[in-house]
Amino acid sequence: MADKQMQEKYAELALRTGVNLQKGQALMINSSIEGAEFTRIVVKKAYELGAKNVLVNWADDELTLMKYQYAPEEVLTNVPQWQIDKQLDFAKDGAALLAIRSTNPDLLKDIDASKVAKATKASAEAMKEFRKYTMNDRIPWSIISIPTGDWSQKIFPGKSVEEAKEALWEQIFTIVRVDKEDPVAAWDEHNLTLRKAREFLNKRKYKKLVFKAPGTDISFELPEGHIWKGGSAKLAGTDLDFNPNMPTEEVFTMPHKYGVNGTVASTKPLIYGGNMIDNFSLTFKDGKVVDFQAEKGYDTLKHLLETDEGASRLGELALVPHESPISQSGLIFYNTLYDENASCHIALGKAYPTNLEGGSAMNEEELDKHGVNDSLTHVDFMIGSADLDIDGVTADGKSEAVFRKGTWTLDFNA
Ligand code: ZN
Ligand code: ZN
Repeated sequence: MADKQMQEKYAELALRTGVNLQKGQALMINSSIEGAEFTRIVVKKAYELGAKNVLVNWADDELTLMKYQYAPEEVLTNVPQWQIDKQLDFAKDGAALLAIRSTNPDLLKDIDASKVAKATKASAEAMKEFRKYTMNDRIPWSIISIPTGDWSQKIFPGKSVEEAKEALWEQIFTIVRVDKEDPVAAWDEHNLTLRKAREFLNKRKYKKLVFKAPGTDISFELPEGHIWKGGSAKLAGTDLDFNPNMPTEEVFTMPHKYGVNGTVASTKPLIYGGNMIDNFSLTFKDGKVVDFQAEKGYDTLKHLLETDEGASRLGELALVPHESPISQSGLIFYNTLYDENASCHIALGKAYPTNLEGGSAMNEEELDKHGVNDSLTHVDFMIGSADLDIDGVTADGKSEAVFRKGTWTLDFNA
């Protein structure tokens, strides 16, 4: 068991800096029973900070696996209305949402990939209305991770369960700045750095970003009116900041859904639907994947791309310097929240409407016209490395270096 005091600091950071919980506000937590001990610490802290009600949606990996093994498909693909309503009721009440993620990256490796894909799609469809609240920053939300035995041993294979969990807690505390004297202040400073980067890019208004690395030669057109975001987000219609991801090291925007051309190679494994996709590449023409390869997890990748029309187009483009603290740990986390913040990444599927001027107020047709992708899915995968060069093309057609050898060449203070 990791230092209780550190866990309390982590819980408090997630509530203050993560969801920015307000007095009298309700809190909904998604967590797993393996993380019960930590989750209870969070719940207690939330009440101490003035939460009026805390609901925990418990998940249990072993029960999830049993359901996939034994339940008929119509059960796996049918999300009951009461489950949807429960989420929506909290969202409509302006509740904060904290996701405490700690899944086993190999949980569903022996389950038929098409069965997993159908169930994943059904759940995404059911949560469509609820997702509008998070994707448009209409409720404060945050995702954090805590160690489980399986996950920890995946990262530290030689260690016992207890040793591996302890080692992962240590990594998490460092990466999420819980080990700092005042983590909340450390996050304020970090958010300022990310704000400088995104404000600089918002002024440059690049037409296009061109990525070159071994196996990668691709150009991403950026829509007119695109907005770079990163670090803390603003709760819609208020002056309240919250941090959707902890850790976060990225600044991100959306590529034009019809303006991506070339081939991009993955640089880290992607865990999707309880399966691993590794050493894969995608070729795009006019924004759509027209060819793909994968050394591992080909079927899972195929099902992901076939989720719907928008799943084979992009919804996010994020820049992360290769010297980010997570990257420096030298570890592969097999967890997108951690791995995406160690590497430049792109996401297949839905774009955040908030990455476009006026996007949150547009209907589906208008979003499409502006190049904003829509899909049931949004799956990030990693394409950054120490070999990555990025050029930005400005409105007058000039090309300038943005990244060389995996890191910024721009001076944000200039
Ligand atoms: Zn991202
Ligand atoms: Zn993303």
